[in-house]
Amino acid sequence: MGRPIGGTWATDMRHCLDALGAIPDGLPGPALNLTLFIGAIVAWVSSGRSAADPRTNVPCRRSPGRRRCPGEIFASFEADRSTIVWHCPVDAREKWTTDARRE
Ligand SMILES: [Zn+2]
Repeated sequence: MGRPIGGTWATDMRHCLDALGAIPDGLPGPALNLTLFIGAIVAWVSSGRSAADPRTNVPCRRSPGRRRCPGEIFASFEADRSTIVWHCPVDAREKWTTDARRE
């Protein structure tokens, strides 16, 4: 679902959805959880909120040392308005980009 590009992980929302733009039936639990997580980030950034505020209400899903990270994801559109860059301000060493285009 993701691939590294020089310290940044790239994902494509289209790989998470079926041809109708819905979450496929029978998606395995880990893939479903990741799809819902990325979908929440895309929904937040696409909601029309202020672009100057990168904070979301999406909780980080990492658990370093088996302790849940208390961070909430920071996310914003790139200039192309289809790529979202996001990271956790607490523990993430890498940034993620998500192509949020709908076709
Ligand atoms: Zn975190």
